[in-house]
Amino acid sequence: MERMYTLPALKYGYGDLSPVLSEEQLSLHHQKHHQAYVTGANAIFEKLDNARRDGSDLDQKATLKELSFHVGGHVLHSLFWENLCPQKNAKPPAGRIRDLIHADFGSLERFIVEFSVAATSVEGSGWAALSLCKKTGRLLIMQIEKHNTNVYPGFSILLVLDLWEHAYYLDYKNDRAAFVKQFFSIIDWDVVASRL
Ligand code: MN
Repeated sequence: MERMYTLPALKYGYGDLSPVLSEEQLSLHHQKHHQAYVTGANAIFEKLDNARRDGSDLDQKATLKELSFHVGGHVLHSLFWENLCPQKNAKPPAGRIRDLIHADFGSLERFIVEFSVAATSVEGSGWAALSLCKKTGRLLIMQIEKHNTNVYPGFSILLVLDLWEHAYYLDYKNDRAAFVKQFFSIIDWDVVASRL
């Protein structure tokens, strides 16, 4: 078993999400930003391994906070790449995910409105996510601050949208709402449905 995190390969080319995301925007985001979380998490594993080997003390509070930041960043980015696809391959949600969206939100249009408001109003750097509560079977929209605050433990994350400025600044400058609007045209709903 791989004991360290690695940067996952994308299932599409860096230019394939254009015009929603440019090749430069996507490659920088994947190769530099996502890689930094992978490297950061692995560095903390090494620090923990070394301290355990030497029997030395660590600042647990700071280390664990830093670890959750990097692991959260790695996991969320991995989910994000997977739930995107080129515009030409994107289809509306079908089957159970469609039924759930209709049951909880009334319509796909209403879901898009609510998700967009959640996404544009995430404070500072963070994410918007669609999740499923396994106890009630309800779909819930979460706003995730940084990479983890506000996550409901145990809820399956079905769909995520990265709203850190590094995710869109090259293409949209500070116009987060324009990026959010375009996001809906590159969702791979089959992947979202497969996470149910
Ligand atoms: Mn990001």
